[in-house]
Amino acid sequence: MIYFRKYTYHNECWWCKSDDLSREHKYKKSELVREYGGCRYKKNVIIAGNGKKDMWFKGPNCLEAKFKPNLCKKCNNSDSRDIDIAYDVFQKYLKSNIAELTNNRCLDLNNIFAADVNKNKMNLIRYLIKHVCCRLAEANIYIEDEVVSFLNGGYLLPYITFRFEIAIDAYRMHQKISSLNEKSHFSLGGMQCISNKTSNRARNINSYFQYRWFRISYLCDMSIKPLDIMNLNDKIPLILNFNANSYFSLM
Ligand SMILES: [Zn+2]
Repeated sequence: MIYFRKYTYHNECWWCKSDDLSREHKYKKSELVREYGGCRYKKNVIIAGNGKKDMWFKGPNCLEAKFKPNLCKKCNNSDSRDIDIAYDVFQKYLKSNIAELTNNRCLDLNNIFAADVNKNKMNLIRYLIKHVCCRLAEANIYIEDEVVSFLNGGYLLPYITFRFEIAIDAYRMHQKISSLNEKSHFSLGGMQCISNKTSNRARNINSYFQYRWFRISYLCDMSIKPLDIMNLNDKIPLILNFNANSYFSLM
């Protein structure tokens, strides 16, 4: 069995080890601005969960919208410019087409990226990996060199897999809140892990991030064989995720 290494990033970028740190957004600033505007938010405009409690956002740059400082300015800005742009294009598409995606249950990357689909597909996955790594580093999990190599341009993605889902309970919730003039929500799932009782070391970590009822779930497991991203199909099926507890509590 292979376990994750515990590690606390003290004043150190998990990607390149620099100490010139910044905070990556948990929810991208541009998507918050697109959804709610760029000014200071009125109370009750935004609520976002972190798996433990709900948080009110004061604006798109507030601390609640960001990770702890564990990524340096260079890695967070110039070095990840292309991957940030690919995610932004993806999120814009998601916002405009979420109803159609829900009906079709398929995400066709050819409909999202006008050109260079392969390159943008890579960059989109790299953005998701960057998000997951910020979260793992914040939870004191060491980011292994293989993941850094993937972010630096490699094609083999080790030990992190994604699933794109429609969360039926969240869909039901949105049907309810639309009548209350609440427009939207972003959320992160709690970090769940399977660990060794004796050593307290994790071998399997999962969570998700979510826009409205569109959820990207991820599983980190050191025993997963590396995936050649070039082989990833451009048409990604959307899995229906049904959480009976939260669904029936909304009835
Ligand atoms: Zn860095």
